[in-house]
Amino acid sequence: MSKTTTDDIIDINHLRKAYATPNGEYVALRDVTVHVRQGSIFGVIGLSGAGKSTLVRCINGLERISSGSLRVLGESVPDLSARQLRELRRSVGMVFQQYNLMPSRTVSDNIALPLRHGRLSRSERKEKVHGLLDLVELGEHAKSYPSQLSGGQQQRVAIARALANDPKILLLDEATSALDPDTTRTILRLVRRLNETLGITIIVVTHQMDVVKEICTDVAVIDHGTIVEQNDAFSVFSDPKAPLTHRFVDNSTGLEHILQLLREGSPLLATKPGERLVHMQYVDKTVSEGLVSIITRRFGLSINILFASVDIVDGYPLGSIIARYSGTPASINEALDFLGDKGIRTTVIAQDGHTLDGYDEKTERK
Ligand code: ADP
Repeated sequence: MSKTTTDDIIDINHLRKAYATPNGEYVALRDVTVHVRQGSIFGVIGLSGAGKSTLVRCINGLERISSGSLRVLGESVPDLSARQLRELRRSVGMVFQQYNLMPSRTVSDNIALPLRHGRLSRSERKEKVHGLLDLVELGEHAKSYPSQLSGGQQQRVAIARALANDPKILLLDEATSALDPDTTRTILRLVRRLNETLGITIIVVTHQMDVVKEICTDVAVIDHGTIVEQNDAFSVFSDPKAPLTHRFVDNSTGLEHILQLLREGSPLLATKPGERLVHMQYVDKTVSEGLVSIITRRFGLSINILFASVDIVDGYPLGSIIARYSGTPASINEALDFLGDKGIRTTVIAQDGHTLDGYDEKTERK
């Protein structure tokens, strides 16, 4: 077995995974190339059935890949023996949507389960469990049973259990999908803290862009078994390329709600001849608000801000404004060029009473 020489803790090239079914072969992963940097929080986002869980099961060796290459922690997973695979799995902790705790065991016993065949003595095991309970802030629930805990607390037990063998990688498969938004945020904050304090690499598999927005440093978007986009989280949010990524981003930034109003013909978003509806995106709030008044004066335009929001993506602010511009076509074009030069992305979504391609229901985003 040869070790990789890159910094990537997971290195996947042209991975294909087909399942044998009674109706023939079903290709769940078509051509997946993904590189996960050590220490990153890497989001894998896709709709249900896209192949996310299959990818996770390949990464920890639960599924054999059909072709391509797959290296985890420098090891070529398809080449590992059964014993080596068991070893690899100790280095890759898993957390699922449904917690998968043993109902008849206490919280402490659940967390201790992965340690039972290890080399630790009884007292070392106790100490380890104690430390893990503290880490997930559940010390006072050591003797409780899972049914006595809230969903968020049960998920923290599952996270502590996944960390018992000091894994290098933590895989979260829809780990917050069953939780309410507040609890989701608490769990995500815990996950970020684990990443920062333990230096553990985290793979977050989700269908929720808000989860990606909250904690991920990098993102891969998966659609029908293919990675359609992969970049750092901020770039994915500020400059999405694939139509599916646009949908995820627009849903999570609130733009989708505005577009829906536009499609429904809401008078709020109507444009008259000579007017354009412009979506502006910027990375520095203070810059942009000043700029709107500057371009109003400099280009003789009337600009009416209809919607404004700021998202924090991977710790950086990303602002979004939808405004109605009125003025001559030439002056509006000059203003948009001016904004472009200042690093503000502008997209005209409706003009002279017509919604432009990509923003109505029939056409796909360019
Ligand atoms: P996701 O996690 O994104 O919802 P999955 O990886 O679970 O997607 O599934 C991807 C596709 O592969 C789905 O169409 C699913 O029905 C199919 N699939 C998953 N597991 C199997 C299996 N063991 N046998 C046949 N098809 C499967």
